Amino acid sequence: MSGDGEHPAATPRPALGTCTVASCQRLAARPHTGLCGAHDGAWRLAGRPELAIFRRSAAPCLGDRGGRVVLAGLEENVIAGLLYGVQAALAEGRRVMPATLRHVAAHLRRSGAGSVAAARTPVRWFPAFAADRAALVRSSVETEQAKDVWDLRLRGAAGRLSFTGLASHRHAAGPPSRPITQPWLKAAAQARAAQALTTNELVRD
Ligand SMILES: [Zn+2]
Repeated sequence: MSGDGEHPAATPRPALGTCTVASCQRLAARPHTGLCGAHDGAWRLAGRPELAIFRRSAAPCLGDRGGRVVLAGLEENVIAGLLYGVQAALAEGRRVMPATLRHVAAHLRRSGAGSVAAARTPVRWFPAFAADRAALVRSSVETEQAKDVWDLRLRGAAGRLSFTGLASHRHAAGPPSRPITQPWLKAAAQARAAQALTTNELVRD
């Protein structure tokens, strides 16, 4: 192994690096495709589709899925959205099953969707929940002030407060409110509402 007068020392051959599928971290086994053995098999089985697309959208190897969720290969903000959703769910005492996350991650990978909210899976609650909590944490009372519909959770209350009339009143009894069309009046109403919410006054309509 160390070599002698006749033969040089044994050195390892250069490796092929890791599998070129985004969700995979196994060692590559096929020089011409850069795929690991399992993904090479899957690629052939799928009828040798365009490699660039296969690398981006292929599911992790079966053995890498058991008991865990593979997020590798998803966009950074999508991963952050998923992880924040898990954190928020746990903080609120909601259970997130690995199978749920696997479904959502698989869909995001296949569709190339740019946000968790865009995931269309049978388990609808998690993408909706994660997107809602992510939007909430990105907002503040200041950013909310200019919007037409306020999320009152930012002000320590529940529900929404709308300055656009009709739409938000479809569940309310009685005639619908009309939207405030004059910008100055809306600004005044919003200032008044903000003040009332801060001082815990009851706000109706
Ligand atoms: Zn692979």
